[in-house]
Amino acid sequence: MLAIVGKFGPRYGATIRKRYAAIEELQRKKQQCPYCKKKSVKRLAKGLWECKSCEKKFALDAYFLTKK
Ligand SMILES: [Zn+2]
Repeated sequence: MLAIVGKFGPRYGATIRKRYAAIEELQRKKQQCPYCKKKSVKRLAKGLWECKSCEKKFALDAYFLTKK
């Protein structure tokens, strides 16, 4: 995300808003937990995630968990 923001600067055009909409959708979906590998991770706030399965909370400088 930071790379995208840096590339386009502070002007948020329609393309960027579409990208953010896609990210918002990803944020609503449950993400895979890096600890227990279950898709039980919910985003609590920007950069803060909680796994409902193993109850771990973790902070990431990311808008969503990336798949490796
Ligand atoms: Zn977990």
